[in-house]
Amino acid sequence: MADLKLRRGQIFTSFGPGSIVDFEGVGFAIKDTGCWLKPKKELALERLSQQVQGRELRGIADENDISVPVVYFPTWFHCPRCKQLQRCYKKDVNLDYGHAPKCSNSACKKSDLVPMRFVAFCDNGHLGEINWGRWAHSNTRGVEATCSREDQLEYHAGGAAGGDFDQMYVKCKACNSERNFSDLFSKPLGREIVGAKGQSCTGRQPWFTRSHEPDSCDRPMRCEPRGSTSIYLPKVLSALDISSDTSSSFGAGPTFAAHEIDVTREALQRLKDSGEVDVDIRKKRFESFLLRTANPGNFKNYLSALNFVSKKLMDVRSADEIYQLFLFVENDNEGADLEPAGENGSLQEIDEGVAQRNLLEEELTVFRNGIDVDEDNFNLSFVPIDAEYGSEAQLIFSSIGRVRRLREVRAFIGFKRGKGDRLQSSDLSKFQSWVLANECFGEGIYFELNKDMLSG
Ligand SMILES: [Zn+2]
Ligand SMILES: [Zn+2]
Ligand SMILES: [Zn+2]
Repeated sequence: MADLKLRRGQIFTSFGPGSIVDFEGVGFAIKDTGCWLKPKKELALERLSQQVQGRELRGIADENDISVPVVYFPTWFHCPRCKQLQRCYKKDVNLDYGHAPKCSNSACKKSDLVPMRFVAFCDNGHLGEINWGRWAHSNTRGVEATCSREDQLEYHAGGAAGGDFDQMYVKCKACNSERNFSDLFSKPLGREIVGAKGQSCTGRQPWFTRSHEPDSCDRPMRCEPRGSTSIYLPKVLSALDISSDTSSSFGAGPTFAAHEIDVTREALQRLKDSGEVDVDIRKKRFESFLLRTANPGNFKNYLSALNFVSKKLMDVRSADEIYQLFLFVENDNEGADLEPAGENGSLQEIDEGVAQRNLLEEELTVFRNGIDVDEDNFNLSFVPIDAEYGSEAQLIFSSIGRVRRLREVRAFIGFKRGKGDRLQSSDLSKFQSWVLANECFGEGIYFELNKDMLSG
């Protein structure tokens, strides 16, 4: 096994846990954070921490912080000179990282071996190697030869230009079986990979050892070049550093002018009386209205109110039901906190869409409040539109805010591959009390379009 020193930023761009990295001619897969030492940098942000089941947020401090654990992937290498194709485990060759293994054929004068370009993955996020011995010994009709030797394989990469799949093939010199790559991508892989018991997918990641139980998986594996972006899709939650006092101040402070609430209440009343409602179009607006009128005594915090309101609104079918919901959240319903119980489970159970939306909604509330904020990591000031921007701007924007300072923290919750049917946790061991994170600082401008809340 090996470790890599990567710069901080690289971890998040394309080199996160579960990714494949090329480094000085050798390919590596980065292990999930269950195999990592805890990075040293604490990146506190309570509201983001809450969304990752209360885990700590940890970032890589500098080059002297932890090394990133990796395994060689793929382990199949070929020699461009003599065409020999073989598996290179660490015990066989001197495979110190950054140095490609050398061809053992004396005629090749220790030329560098090259890792095979193609790997196998499934839409549930598993990743593995194609067994090139099996490939050579199965013709395109899937009939296997009796020979199963792996020590006489050759890989021919085709003409000078390369890239033509019928010109590329793997051959066994012992029995002369060979198979080209014309159908390498066009159909799911079968016998060419070593699937887990009872399934065609390996249910594994390249760094799994024998002690790892394979996942159950009903997807077939398919082939992609190992550099393909579709086989590694990092999943990250992002949050601005706004103190929870500020972000949960719904219902306190002038979030809505009193007359606006009256107008909306009347509109709701009319809607209720008419018995008609275009629920889908208006739901979003009602949601923000309900949140702003909600009685803080009913909910622990903004998140809890949001969970409750958005869940209830999903089942709403009529104006009357919306009105009832409005009365419920507005009035004092003692002990009515209906927030789902906090769960401490796998990161895999996080619904990234819901989690990210919760974070965004909190942030939007702060911006929509229209109140200047001055905190250590967040400075927002609203600009008088008429003075600086003229009367046309007033028609378009209802508010413009300048963000002079912000801190964004991103938590790496996992990755997907292919169609992304399953989130693979960034910590497959499920034991870590921390999540890999990073932070960046910046500035920006916030615009809010001028729309009547109930129009359209
Ligand atoms: Zn060679
Ligand atoms: Zn799978
Ligand atoms: Zn053979």
